[in-house]
Amino acid sequence: MDILQSQELPVINSARTVYRFIRGAYRKIRAIKNHFLNLIDSPIILLVYHRVTDLPSDPEMLAVSPGNFRRHIEFLKQQFPVVRFEEDWSHLKEPAVVITFDDGYADNVLEALPILEEVGVPATFFVSTGHIGTSKEFWWHRLEAMLLRDGEFPSGFTLDDARYGRVWDTDTFDQRKVLYNTLSGFMLKITPERREDWLNQLKKWSGSGDEGKNIHRSMSHEEIKRLAASPWATIGAHTVTHSALSALSEEQQRKEIFTSKQVLEKITGAEITTFSYPFGRRVDYNRTSVRLCRKAKFRKAASNFPGQVHRWTDHYQLPRHLVRNWDIDTFTDQIQSFWTR
Ligand SMILES: [Zn+2]
Repeated sequence: MDILQSQELPVINSARTVYRFIRGAYRKIRAIKNHFLNLIDSPIILLVYHRVTDLPSDPEMLAVSPGNFRRHIEFLKQQFPVVRFEEDWSHLKEPAVVITFDDGYADNVLEALPILEEVGVPATFFVSTGHIGTSKEFWWHRLEAMLLRDGEFPSGFTLDDARYGRVWDTDTFDQRKVLYNTLSGFMLKITPERREDWLNQLKKWSGSGDEGKNIHRSMSHEEIKRLAASPWATIGAHTVTHSALSALSEEQQRKEIFTSKQVLEKITGAEITTFSYPFGRRVDYNRTSVRLCRKAKFRKAASNFPGQVHRWTDHYQLPRHLVRNWDIDTFTDQIQSFWTR
């Protein structure tokens, strides 16, 4: 270690300590503020799940095992009123919970729905319509299938793109994981057409298909009809191509939002009144997205950042807490923290 490094280390360490202190203080202040707001108005917390199944690999950590999901649902049913996303919450006098699902994976119908029906708990399922009834997978699974598989790879990948183009080493799994993570992030900022071009470049480079596994498929038409027929399920829209809306022009956003609603209405024969933004962080959609959701006559739209819902919360940017594959002890601790997070 040279002299410069030995002098730099304490600076970095103290910067980290200050950052941790500020973050801790901010969280405490937020918890106190939320505690008082909860005294004025009963909060509702919205949970977002994506998948209920066991997966051999899950780099995005979106799958909850059926066993853990059942325990989550039974706990919620015992402890709180579980209300529907689309219902009018203004009459609620005590803290309540809402369960939602994003994306429209087939396992929602095959594994989650039977548990919800058996326990007797409602949920709303936001479905992306681009892959309904096909074996095609969402783009992050295609990326995973090409980069995180076993086998031989060329020793470097060059992305041909005016803005994001560069070269990555790809000899080891860790290097390919870096490429996977970087491209996943970049792909939130580009249009579906450009993303398709990148995936094709990768396909040619890797010399393998991007078909992935059938375990990642979206619902079929029949499965959507089955979901729509359940008294415990409601269907909402979630765009066509699952792109971050903030990366798209107004016209592209309109197409994504309106078409997903129309496709689902055609399949179910019922009006689709709710929506959730793909990825759903504040940077993943914009004011145009919110305006178009109102124009499409959605009554509520869900985001994907933590927070509780009060009567003054914007119904077109409802905060939700992401649920991971937690065992029941972790889940109960997390739920406890959600009331003031
Ligand atoms: Zn989604």
